[in-house]
Amino acid sequence: MASISCKCEQVIELRTFPNPYTCYFMEESELLEFIENTFSSLLKEVQAGNLRLQGDDTELEPDLSYRLLTSLMGSMSRFYECPNCGRLILFRQGADHRRHYSPDREDEGE
Ligand SMILES: [Zn+2]
Repeated sequence: MASISCKCEQVIELRTFPNPYTCYFMEESELLEFIENTFSSLLKEVQAGNLRLQGDDTELEPDLSYRLLTSLMGSMSRFYECPNCGRLILFRQGADHRRHYSPDREDEGE
């Protein structure tokens, strides 16, 4: 998705990464499950000798960082915040439709 249109007709460009209008979130139970599955899978890779977690290099390998990032982003719900009207355009993980949330009037101007 290269861009998304808000109800106010603002087009939100999504080509840049990281994108300033995109936020990701997940339910706590999904977060716990993701963490458990990720550590379990990493441990299996370490035990199989495919991944070293010790040594002088304390940074994650770029490939591993990318895999974790894409796995996490693929598991999360997301919303886009319209820079014009402040609406949140929300996509829940697994849902095939989007929802719009507008800021309360008393919150405008904050
Ligand atoms: Zn808008």
